[in-house]
Amino acid sequence: MHSKDYIEKIYRIAESAGPIFLDPDTYVTNGTIQALNRLAGAVREAIELVSQGESRVFILGRPPGHHAGIKGPALGAPTLGFCIFNTAGVIAKMLAKSAKVTVLDFDLHHGNGTQEILWNTEILHVDIHQDPSTIYPGTGFPWQKGANDNLINILLPPGAGDDIFIDAVDRAFEKIVEYDPEFLVVSAGFDAYYNDYTVMRITDRGFHYVGSKIRDMRVPVIAVLEGGYSIGLSKGLPAFVRGLIGEAQSMVDSTSSSDVLWDRYRRLNRVSP
Ligand SMILES: [Zn+2]
Repeated sequence: MHSKDYIEKIYRIAESAGPIFLDPDTYVTNGTIQALNRLAGAVREAIELVSQGESRVFILGRPPGHHAGIKGPALGAPTLGFCIFNTAGVIAKMLAKSAKVTVLDFDLHHGNGTQEILWNTEILHVDIHQDPSTIYPGTGFPWQKGANDNLINILLPPGAGDDIFIDAVDRAFEKIVEYDPEFLVVSAGFDAYYNDYTVMRITDRGFHYVGSKIRDMRVPVIAVLEGGYSIGLSKGLPAFVRGLIGEAQSMVDSTSSSDVLWDRYRRLNRVSP
């Protein structure tokens, strides 16, 4: 999935004393190899578990992966955005050898690495993220659709609340249900949580909702942790898991969006540039 040159380069650099910056965002240290090896072990175990009938597996690993493309930074992005190897991409391609697979990515940022890796495949990749004209990595527009119309990008205007996020999740699941996958791979990022990383205002309600929609699909799911840096991890992640396992969520914590934001959201998701 990644080029041999890129993999060898990472191993070579990580063997030195470190930390060494690969780009302004992303560094490796001599602990990176151990982390990546453990992540690889978790991937194998997750695939074994779903193959044996387990319905839900969540890999709580680091580093994240969805910005890592075939040779490193993907689709012209300036950096790797803290990612080294693309965990969700590996899982999707391994499962897709014998089954129909969908990747859902709801991290704040576009999963440009995953999209580059899946560009020429039949794997459906649905990616919900902040308007890329306002944030790294600057890709993931609705008209970027992959070689087989297999990539779907759904954009959120900066400042969107739970109501817009839930609408975006519903749009995503319309496509996923239509595709009818046998496995779901989820790039679960929590950096769109209110006050986690940018100006987005998604709370427990939104993350619980996406977890419960995945559960409603009734297909085996492997989720991997992408972004999320503070409150997104302490609140958004547990809310997502509660949704995933069918535990109720109180709806008190909820944000709504202005008419101006709703208009922007609808304009952003028109398919022509
Ligand atoms: Zn992110």
